[in-house]
Amino acid sequence: MDTINIKNVTVCGAGVLGGQIAFQTAFHRFNVTIYDISNEILEKATIKFKLLSKTYKKDISATQKEVDAAIARIKFSTNLKEATKDADLVIEAIPENIRVKKEFYIQLAKVAPLKSIFCTNSSTLLPSMFAQETGRPERFLALHFSNLIWKHNTAEIMGHPTTSPKVFEAIVDFSKAIGMVALPIHKEQSGYILNSLLAPFLRSALHLYVNNISDPETIDKTWIKASGSPMGPFGICDVVGITTICNINKILADTGDELSKMIVKELQENFISKGKLGIPTGKGFYNYPNPAYEQEDFLK
Ligand code: NAD
Repeated sequence: MDTINIKNVTVCGAGVLGGQIAFQTAFHRFNVTIYDISNEILEKATIKFKLLSKTYKKDISATQKEVDAAIARIKFSTNLKEATKDADLVIEAIPENIRVKKEFYIQLAKVAPLKSIFCTNSSTLLPSMFAQETGRPERFLALHFSNLIWKHNTAEIMGHPTTSPKVFEAIVDFSKAIGMVALPIHKEQSGYILNSLLAPFLRSALHLYVNNISDPETIDKTWIKASGSPMGPFGICDVVGITTICNINKILADTGDELSKMIVKELQENFISKGKLGIPTGKGFYNYPNPAYEQEDFLK
């Protein structure tokens, strides 16, 4: 295999994560093309980039010149062949749906140059599920970012059994080059590292709550004081979003899991139906901005 040199990156999907990945990559001086299925969606992405410019200036002290240069490095396209014609790397951030992703990889494999490495940003699906469809299993792996990529700058990198070690290393290097902390994973694991830790943690906290063993504030206080963490599990639920927490539990509830059924009922009746969706609506287990757990007297 020739030396891998990544300069041109195509991000497929201009939604929540795709927009952030494109901006972060361009901010770190790569040439970026962002692809989505319609011009309307790409127009919304341009608005998103302007908002991200403000956020980067506020959160990471970026200069106006730097954010303007990042935007200038991003091209837009609704034509997959055109969007990928020079791609050294294609990062897929389209909806979390097996059928949609499979169909996408079949199309992508037909038009992208053979040299292009493909990465999926999927949160729950494994790269081996799509490796054949990519037409280049050895150049395919997962590169998983977190929401708010510029400050939650983790990159979980996970191959499938036939990913080339050289390609894996190239993606480790690429992730560092765009300001990420690279987190290599040696075997396929649903949920990577972060969600493998987080999911059972949040489930245990919700178990204590829905079974009336304690209340969210006391549970969070216990965790914050005893572990030294800045936030407890219910503060984290508000960050993740109550809808997402509910959807994850619905999947388990459908398999007959009793605890998940109780969690879904509680979240639907007392949170979702009341518009308490966490940080996105300013209300969840806490009220935002300035949630109680950030106040000085919270631990007293
Ligand atoms: P999203 O719904 O915000 O965006 C998906 C985008 O993909 C939309 O703009 C949609 O128009 C576009 N799209 C749909 N079909 C397409 C196709 N065939 N080709 C190109 N674009 C297409 O979704 P998201 O939250 O950005 O999630 C995208 C991926 O990133 C998922 O796999 C998800 O698991 C993963 N992810 C999401 C988060 C998160 O916090 N939202 C975090 C980490 C990883």
